[in-house]
Amino acid sequence: MTSRAAVAAAYRDLGRRGFTPGSAGNVSVRARGGMLITPSGVSAEAVTASGIVRVEADGTARGGVPSSEAPMHQAIYRAFPEAGAIIHTHAEAGTALSCLGRPIPAFHYMVVAFGGADIRCAPYVTFGTPELAAAAVAALAGRRACLLANHGVIVHAPDLAAALTDTIVLESLARQYLLARAAGPVRVLTEEEVAAAIRRFASYRAGGG
Ligand code: 13P
Ligand code: ZN
Repeated sequence: MTSRAAVAAAYRDLGRRGFTPGSAGNVSVRARGGMLITPSGVSAEAVTASGIVRVEADGTARGGVPSSEAPMHQAIYRAFPEAGAIIHTHAEAGTALSCLGRPIPAFHYMVVAFGGADIRCAPYVTFGTPELAAAAVAALAGRRACLLANHGVIVHAPDLAAALTDTIVLESLARQYLLARAAGPVRVLTEEEVAAAIRRFASYRAGGG
């Protein structure tokens, strides 16, 4: 599969999961100094490989109108050299939590898989602006995902398959947190428990099981 076909397929997959209602959300991969990104205003049902837009490092777009969030994707690639793919969605549970404007604490050990003791929430900023790009980069420091207040979520990963998996895991965690909050006061992991989970993930990721 070409990189363009893979980006289109990932966006379609997100659409089938209900993560990108209408033309919400966008997908990109880093490519030869720039990126390949979904077009603006196109639904998951309608996206095609040939509709994927190339954006150069200087922001020049080739072959269509790139996602309005191209500046946010570009800022994340610039700030996090390990990022190879980025997925932004308006998935229901994550977006609902973003409307509280608060981080997701380590209520479950899998929160730690995103880089630390919480998944932060970037403050509300108008979509498609450089200010949103800067807010997302700040909220992602040391993390691979964050909430965007009153908007949605964004995830970066080394490759597209990992970004897709992480997007699904994040939505599952957001739903679990909403359920737990609705059921009663939630116990959050202690600092020691978070530190132990971070250590455990280091060997788990290295193939330690
Ligand atoms: P695009 O259709 O321009 O990618 O915008 C969707 C979106 O989610 C904006 O935040
Ligand atoms: Zn959005």
